Amino acid sequence: TPTIGVLALQGDVREHLVALAAADALARPVRRPEELAEIDGLVIPGGESTTMSKLAVIFGLLEPLRERIRAGMPVYGTCAGMIMLADKLLDGREDQETLGGIDMIVRRNAFGRQNESFEAAIEMAGIEGAPVEGVFIRAPWVESTGADTEVLATYDGHTVAVRQGNVLATSFHPELTGDHRVHALFVAMVRERAAAGSR
Ligand code: GLN
Repeated sequence: TPTIGVLALQGDVREHLVALAAADALARPVRRPEELAEIDGLVIPGGESTTMSKLAVIFGLLEPLRERIRAGMPVYGTCAGMIMLADKLLDGREDQETLGGIDMIVRRNAFGRQNESFEAAIEMAGIEGAPVEGVFIRAPWVESTGADTEVLATYDGHTVAVRQGNVLATSFHPELTGDHRVHALFVAMVRERAAAGSR
């Protein structure tokens, strides 16, 4: 059983811990650099990316996290977590840092101006059966992606789910719906990576 951390600086940490446990992972909050050694994968929750970025600097996590991502640790970010995984940001705060990991440009609060919060049925590649219930809360969208990225879902012409290698990101919040299929997809990515490592 893989151990998956949830970055617990700020945001909806508890919901992700529950969803990961339901998807058969050992889930634990991560706040300190030392704790990174104990995890096989990491979820970056929804919340407020400017605050998360600031706290990641204060807690000394920015570089250690970048290093683990570069080394291939699977990471899944929702909403603010997606923002953290963007190589480039639009409408970010001037001093806002991201971890990067996906060759994409993400626009913060992109859906927020028209609509603070809404739900929509999302067809997502890799998710069988009914569409995923997409909960969007002052959500970002992906403005553009590089050649090595895979667009997994769009809404209203905008990319809202993307994957590059072991890094997955969604504009929306599956952790708030009780449908654990996206978390199960991520747990499968973590298992695959662990299996590849021990070969
Ligand atoms: N608008 C938030 C940000 O910029 C993200 C909102 C969310 O995570 N639901 O960080």
